[in-house]
Amino acid sequence: MGTDGGLRGPDGTAPGRVPYYPVMLDLRDRPCVVLGGGREAEAKVRGLLDAGARVTLVAATATEALARWAAEGRIRWIRREYRPGDLAGFVLVIAATGDPDLNRRIRREADRRHLWVNAVDDPPHCSFILPAVHRQGDLVVAVGTGGQSPALAARLRDRLARELGPEYATWIALLGSMRPAVAARIPDPDRRRALWYRMVDSEGLALVRRGDVEGARRLLEALLDAAAGGPADAPPASAALTPHPTSRPGDAAPDPRADGFAEGADPAPTAVATTRVGTAPAGAISGSAHGVQGRSRQAPAEPSVPSPLPGHPQPTRSPSHQGPGTVYLVGAGPGDPELLTLRAARILAEADCVLYDRLVSPAVLARVRPGAERIAVGKAPRGAGGSMAAWSQEAILDLLADRARRHRVVVRLKGGDPMVFGRGGEELAELRRRGIPVQVVPGVTSAVAAPGLAGIPLTLRGVASSFTVASGHCQAGSSQDWARLAAADTLVVLMGVANRQATARALIEAGRPPAEPCAFVEWASWPRQRVIRATLEAVAAGCVQTEAPAVWIIGPVAAWADEPAIRGTPPAARVDAPSSPAPVRGASRR
Ligand code: SAH
Repeated sequence: MGTDGGLRGPDGTAPGRVPYYPVMLDLRDRPCVVLGGGREAEAKVRGLLDAGARVTLVAATATEALARWAAEGRIRWIRREYRPGDLAGFVLVIAATGDPDLNRRIRREADRRHLWVNAVDDPPHCSFILPAVHRQGDLVVAVGTGGQSPALAARLRDRLARELGPEYATWIALLGSMRPAVAARIPDPDRRRALWYRMVDSEGLALVRRGDVEGARRLLEALLDAAAGGPADAPPASAALTPHPTSRPGDAAPDPRADGFAEGADPAPTAVATTRVGTAPAGAISGSAHGVQGRSRQAPAEPSVPSPLPGHPQPTRSPSHQGPGTVYLVGAGPGDPELLTLRAARILAEADCVLYDRLVSPAVLARVRPGAERIAVGKAPRGAGGSMAAWSQEAILDLLADRARRHRVVVRLKGGDPMVFGRGGEELAELRRRGIPVQVVPGVTSAVAAPGLAGIPLTLRGVASSFTVASGHCQAGSSQDWARLAAADTLVVLMGVANRQATARALIEAGRPPAEPCAFVEWASWPRQRVIRATLEAVAAGCVQTEAPAVWIIGPVAAWADEPAIRGTPPAARVDAPSSPAPVRGASRR
């Protein structure tokens, strides 16, 4: 492969590197030759046999397994070293000799015969390289690093394998079994493609995961019926589902290209064109030139705050939502992306559009799919004079409804858990009322994460057997029942920084001891996390400096575990508080 004159290859291949072209070969009954008889050769032979190839081994000695396969007639073994001319008649060559000089000679003959050759652990003598592979039924995940780090490729493969559970094999088989019926009933390729994406994006996978394969099948059939404009006259032609089918030529499954796309192409948008804002990198080739349709591959313009949508369609008021989208009310956790749930991380990686709150951290936003539209809808704190628009709840709901009509994965991303002081309940009810499919993805609430990260248990045998979570931010005119809250073993106050003095006084009046320990955990899980310990009395006296966002934990548990080693806090939290004026009387900082 020649150099590229200093230009980056597709997707940023480094100059001078080979921009490998990934393929999946059908090697059934094809003559392939493996040279060398060690462990590496054995692994390659096994892979070729799994792919149905006819394997010849050229090696003076061989491992036990290779010798056994030869004795069983599964491979042909020529018991000697490589000789020029050995490659005649093969379609694929694997040199597992461990000898670069021998590999060079093999490569030379292979090139002369226009054969593809892989020299194990010897990239200069390869004309193709092998990715790290994970198979799950018909699902094949192949990861490559351009030959630079097979170990990293293997690790990434393992990570993907963990994410793609065994349900995928069944799900793929189920989708495959729908192909004849879909091809017969939806002749138009564009409509068929849109239907396929509706199917793969449906809740079918979740049903399969729960073991309800029949429910998933019914769901797919209902989607097909809806697309075809009514149920089929005859029962659907879906074939019986086998858990791990291996399709063979001649199976009823039509050519995937008949759908107008090959595996790897992205979906075309099913509805209106998107209004994604973004600037393509200079010299970028338009997506369609690469056969990529629909989703933009360009860099996001973020955070984009669109002006109120001109001509923005009226939200649907009946449960007849026609768009392709589901709105996911996703909990972003307290800030550290490692505290996202696996589900939240997956949905962010698939998102088309994300509406996020102020307390969602940049590190979590970095998990959003690069081409997705991002809209900051968080309200700037009062008096902060921030540049962020203050979005009304109604405007946010309209925007969600609008995006769900255009996109498939619309994410409403909220700090912590969406149903804890996050207006998640209201949004869920209103989206349902508008007929928009909506799902809640719970998150790690700061009410629980912040004390945990500060090493403060919410319950502790013999000390506290319950905890109560309350808001310290009282709506105008409303009053908090502090007497009731004062009765909790451990009281966790969110949004409590601004009113902390009045709250502490009210709690003391309601019977909490003035010397009661408490702690504020600011910016929990962020690099700037800080824990401030004090007594209720000190807070009531206005002696404790703290800043929002903070979780305020009140109760005997707040004094527990002063040893950092026991507290188990992340290093960032152990850093001493900045050298601001020392708090007085009863307040101490860590
Ligand atoms: N739904 C969120 C709470 C939203 S209310 C959740 O489940 O965590 C906003 C309040 O949450 C803030 O005023 C603060 O009290 C708390 N909060 C959210 N993230 C925080 C963080 N990283 N550190 C400390 N407090 C946080």
